[in-house]
Amino acid sequence: MFKKILIANRGEIALRIIRACKELGVKTVAIYSQPDAESLHVLLADEAYCVGPAPASQSYLNVSNIISVALMSGAEAIHPGYGFMAENADFADICKEHDLVFIGPSSQAIRQMGDKATAKQTMLDAGMPVVPGIDGITADVPKIKAWAKTAGYPILVKATAGGGGKGMRLVEDESQVEAMIQSASAEAQAAFGNPDCYIEKYILKPRHIEFQILADNYGNVIHLGDRDCSIQRRHQKLIEEAPSPVMTPALREKVGMTIVNAVKNIGYEGVGTIELLFDKDMNYYFMEMNTRIQVEHPVTEMITGIDLLKEQIKVAAGEKLTIQQKDVAFNGHAIECRINAEDSTKNFMPMPGLIDGFIAPGGIGIRVDSHAYQGYKIPPFYDSLVGKLIAHGATREEAIIRMRRGLDEFAITGIPTTIPFHQKMMNFAPFVEGKEIYTNFMIEHQLV
Ligand code: ADP
Ligand code: ADP
Ligand code: MG
Repeated sequence: MFKKILIANRGEIALRIIRACKELGVKTVAIYSQPDAESLHVLLADEAYCVGPAPASQSYLNVSNIISVALMSGAEAIHPGYGFMAENADFADICKEHDLVFIGPSSQAIRQMGDKATAKQTMLDAGMPVVPGIDGITADVPKIKAWAKTAGYPILVKATAGGGGKGMRLVEDESQVEAMIQSASAEAQAAFGNPDCYIEKYILKPRHIEFQILADNYGNVIHLGDRDCSIQRRHQKLIEEAPSPVMTPALREKVGMTIVNAVKNIGYEGVGTIELLFDKDMNYYFMEMNTRIQVEHPVTEMITGIDLLKEQIKVAAGEKLTIQQKDVAFNGHAIECRINAEDSTKNFMPMPGLIDGFIAPGGIGIRVDSHAYQGYKIPPFYDSLVGKLIAHGATREEAIIRMRRGLDEFAITGIPTTIPFHQKMMNFAPFVEGKEIYTNFMIEHQLV
């Protein structure tokens, strides 16, 4: 096992990594930007170093400073968390060049999956059904129109470098093709420095169901079941749960094994998520792979009892997986609400600022992953996630009841949060019923 790890991230995920390291007996090195000096990850790590000013490009994405801190502090490995450096293959290479272990898959695997158009082809070759579309990158308007004529509208233009819901445009008819390609490309260029797009059929009323996978360096791959992330706003997740209310054990087993075999074929190490869309008839299509730990990983931890962060760090340190597929059992149901510093009555506008009161909920079946505390000032420079409230129960019904209680107990004052929105959702009959939830749920029910 490593003796010391540098955490190249901030917020709740930096804390989550520190907690895993503490349990593994690994020392931690935090990095932070100037406005994050008072952040909890700085206070809880064994050592902490400022790597630059507020803009992420000068701090959390400042490769030379991060590497310098790692070398100077004697860290053996770097954990990138999610966002920032997590899916940056060049950064994984640079770590290697400095004899630092990048806690994640190989740079080759990140590259292979990070380009979404190529990833679809790779997974198709490995035996996974994929969302129907045009193969590879294209901006060829006549070709797209010709394809859409047979495939049918609506279609979706997607940035091949996309992430966080950015660089996606719905095209409802032929007249919109050209303009939507231009606007998706422009957004992708601005957000990812890469304008390339690919074309998919727009799946009507899909559920977003994803599978967690865990792989070691010796060819062992297991899946830890599914998560349903269909409650979204602008293609970004708001509520996640495990298992999906519409998944059956037989289908989980079938899809899970297809995924395990595909992941074995590509040669992958660490944690990862295969994101799929399921249509009304439970036909499923590979959409993308996230080659990192995900925001919503706790719901899987709650129902499997497996600490995903510890497993991720252990396999990165060269240990063999000790869990076999037959050991993975699913216990009850877990739901996660993303608590954001946003005003849900004003189009979810981010509202950073000073938290003047913070009382976290507790009791059986409640988990809070948050870096916030009374007196903490949320800086305006990064994402608006204040924390995650996770409720676990024997059944989905019990998990919802616990989530309602947790949300009622959670007192955050000084800034608006999405707690009132989640309270409404946990009492909203179509959500509670659970069967008719699709990615357009929020729009369909006029919740946005
Ligand atoms: P998850 O699949 O874990 O729910 P999200 O899409 O919500 O992931 O993203 C998690 C975090 O990572 C967010 O802060 C998001 O802005 C960031 N992120 C996701 N993809 C990218 C990307 N390609 N480039 C930069 N940041 C990204
Ligand atoms: P990101 O990299 O930003 O996470 P994804 O490819 O995972 O992008 O898509 C994000 C969300 O957009 C999905 O969860 C789904 O709601 C919607 N989406 C993406 N592709 C399609 C599609 N072909 N048809 C319908 N919805 C889609
Ligand atoms: Mg995605």
